[in-house]
Amino acid sequence: MSALAAELAALIRTEGPLPVDRFMALALGHPRHGYYMTRDPLGAAGDFVTAPEISQVFGELIGVWAASAWEALGRPPAVNLVELGPGRGTLMADLLRAARALPAFAAALSVHLVETSPVLAARQRETLASAGVPCAWHRDLSTVPPGPAIFVANEFLDALPVRQFVMTPNGWRERVVGLTDGALAFGLARDPVPMEVIPPGLRQASPGAVVEICPALAHREAPLAALFVDYGHVQSAHGDTLQAVQAHRFADPLAAPGEADLTAHVDFEAFAAALAGAGLVAGAPVTQRALLFALGLRERAERLAGRRPEAFESLRAGVERLIDPAPAGMGSLFKAVAVASSTALLQAMPALD
Ligand code: SAH
Repeated sequence: MSALAAELAALIRTEGPLPVDRFMALALGHPRHGYYMTRDPLGAAGDFVTAPEISQVFGELIGVWAASAWEALGRPPAVNLVELGPGRGTLMADLLRAARALPAFAAALSVHLVETSPVLAARQRETLASAGVPCAWHRDLSTVPPGPAIFVANEFLDALPVRQFVMTPNGWRERVVGLTDGALAFGLARDPVPMEVIPPGLRQASPGAVVEICPALAHREAPLAALFVDYGHVQSAHGDTLQAVQAHRFADPLAAPGEADLTAHVDFEAFAAALAGAGLVAGAPVTQRALLFALGLRERAERLAGRRPEAFESLRAGVERLIDPAPAGMGSLFKAVAVASSTALLQAMPALD
């Protein structure tokens, strides 16, 4: 039993079963034993690999997007560039290198990194030490200063805890983590949940159907442009997408909480609805493949290959992986969605496909 599993078992004995979002929040963020609190999970020796770690082209193209978003914002002389869940800081470092192509943009930037993991924040400080722009770290969005802002986030939304509801012959009930013979086990809360909790489009379902709900982003006053890239589905649907990954393989989410990454697929339809509730507008999601081509993948890859012919093969392999159109490939499983504080701004931002 992992250290966290023992602690969760004790918690369940005193407080009763934990809703899935609480379980996920503790598995990832428990101050001593949470998965992200204790390790750098990225890379071949870790548990999973992300797009910016596969190829520098990814972060550079997000930089191209950010520069255009700044122009759409009216070229403010000071802008907060905020990254949510920055991992090793690789995306930001690549973005800032590309940003230097537009010196007025680079000069306008203050970088804000929103990160809960002390291990990864330390890694980000190292990566960005020579970036040449002021960087500040935050545990959540509440301390990011006001003013025009550009947000970027890759594989961040999937780490946000979800609640799960399961249809039973007696209506919807919340999925919980309890104890069976002393071991963590999924179960259902005793009382049915009120129908209003379930999104209207998903209320009709057969027994066994699962609905997932993720809480919304905080509301900000100033003009804002954001780009979210993550794996998920474009339309809300029934299904259990809670998944654990350890050493590049799927694992049982209850087997070793705190030692495996735990995520849920992003429901982009629900995400857009939640943003609308906070006064923001989301564009239509596009595949990561479409996003990267729209931002100039071909030209950038050719230029890089021309400069470093010896690295051509590894460059090509990395790019191919990012745009792989197979159903489970990164190019199609991952979607990008642009978000803005107004429809006019969204329309002025770069088209994503
Ligand atoms: N964007 C990076 C890392 C993705 S992994 C990349 O593409 O490589 C998820 C990241 O989100 C990690 O940096 C993790 O520590 C961070 N994270 C997870 N939950 C968070 C939360 N609630 N608030 C802020 N950061 C969080």
